[in-house]
Amino acid sequence: MKIDDFPLHIKNLLIPKSSGELKYRCLGCERIYGIKELLYTCPECGEVLLIFDKQFERLKRISPKTWRQLFDYRRMLKIPALKGIYRYQEFIGSTIPPEAVVYLGEGHTPIVEVNEHLQKKVGLRFFYKNDGQNPSASFKDRGMASAFSYINYLIKQGDISEILAVCASTGDTSAAAALYAAYLKPAIKSAVLLPHKKVTPQQLAQPLGNGATVFEIPGVFDDCMKVVESLSEQYNVALLNSKNAWRILGQESYSYEIAQEFEYDLADKVIVVPIGNAGNITAIMNGFIKFHQVGIISTLPKIIGVQSQHANPVYRYYLEPDVTKRVFKPMMVSPSVAQAAMIGNPVSMPRVINLVDSYNQLADSKRVFFVEVTEQAIMDWQLKANRNGHIACTHGGETLAGLTKAIKQGLINENETAIINSTAHAIKFSDFQDMYFQNNFPKEYSITPDEKLINHPYFVQPESARKVLTLKEPRDSKDFIQFVSDVVKNIAAQLELKKRNQS
Ligand SMILES: *Cc1c(COP(=O)(O)O)cnc(C)c1O
Ligand SMILES: [Zn+2]
Repeated sequence: MKIDDFPLHIKNLLIPKSSGELKYRCLGCERIYGIKELLYTCPECGEVLLIFDKQFERLKRISPKTWRQLFDYRRMLKIPALKGIYRYQEFIGSTIPPEAVVYLGEGHTPIVEVNEHLQKKVGLRFFYKNDGQNPSASFKDRGMASAFSYINYLIKQGDISEILAVCASTGDTSAAAALYAAYLKPAIKSAVLLPHKKVTPQQLAQPLGNGATVFEIPGVFDDCMKVVESLSEQYNVALLNSKNAWRILGQESYSYEIAQEFEYDLADKVIVVPIGNAGNITAIMNGFIKFHQVGIISTLPKIIGVQSQHANPVYRYYLEPDVTKRVFKPMMVSPSVAQAAMIGNPVSMPRVINLVDSYNQLADSKRVFFVEVTEQAIMDWQLKANRNGHIACTHGGETLAGLTKAIKQGLINENETAIINSTAHAIKFSDFQDMYFQNNFPKEYSITPDEKLINHPYFVQPESARKVLTLKEPRDSKDFIQFVSDVVKNIAAQLELKKRNQS
């Protein structure tokens, strides 16, 4: 639809302008900083930051009804900048004008209702939101679209020129960063730091293919993070880890999309997310809070954060019911199939602590919960999901395992509807599926495959194949016809097929 065809009261709002006043706020000392400079931590006290809009109140001058219409109307426009996360520009990066927005097809990922068979098994109505259907096949693209749009804006304004974007990664952050950086060539180059052998071959192939400089170090993600933090303190580089508050802003789009998809009615909705560095759950809480403050939604959904027993520092923190006694303790992680969440010292922990309190206060009841799941449950549920027509990665298995755990613990009742996050695409983590099918998980995972879930290809190689393999003449010889017939018989026997009635 063309702009002129929209109703008058919406026309002026359709194309967002640069507005508002974005600031960094330190979660430690509460100091406020301008966004002219790219900050990651508070220059005073070293704590993490969040970005807020100093003029956020102005958004309340537009009625909730108009906002809801506006987002639906924007969906009809053919303007790239409004096709992705910046459909919600006023809530994500209000100072960024559409001309600076970098859009590579991120966001608005499908919300797919789980089939009847699996819903019955789990005992709840629920949906997968497939964030693996983002351009680099994980939700990290949401945050990168935001961070790179901001950097692009600074470049366009002439505030900065050459940028080296760096990040440490469990695999998906680097894939996303390398993709967006490559798009903004030549102003931006990227370098990524990965824990050697702790990302999947697919995840390693991604930044290599996009032309990033890739470094691998022995150790785990937490070690890589220490290196890039030190690097960004001493050298002039742009840090793209979720320490970068722009990433969080972009990831808030996940909440806005769920709100819009469910017609802004989030009563009885439960959002289930895996937690690693805790950037995602931070963004999801913040997103719902903002929509609630403006009245676009009237109920805050329940949120369940899920962690593997092998990397569960957030879960452990909240085990202590007495708020005053809670102490955060980083932990050493053990190998986990939810590898992108294998983090013992989450960078966003202070943000989580801050926002869980605000969220529960705003909702006037406890609305955020944490559960832990076993590696075994993660794999079993991932495979079950995909055997029912989904494309869940291991973290998507983790959220499903978390959902069943939360139901068992009475955190969810049968009248609620869950939206669970498959944070990446299944194929990025297919090596874990292979290990399951081959039953060769290293001991530390403590995973024993369930026979019923194992699947193997059948190699059909009848005796007659030998003659065909060396065949040079066209494939209509007697030998080849014999081979085809043998293979057909073999397949038919395996599938127990019934012969067609000959007429
Ligand atoms: C990064 C990542 C996570 C963890 O998200 P955090 O924001 O670090 O908590 C989970 N799943 C996948 C696939 C990821 O790439
Ligand atoms: Zn501070």
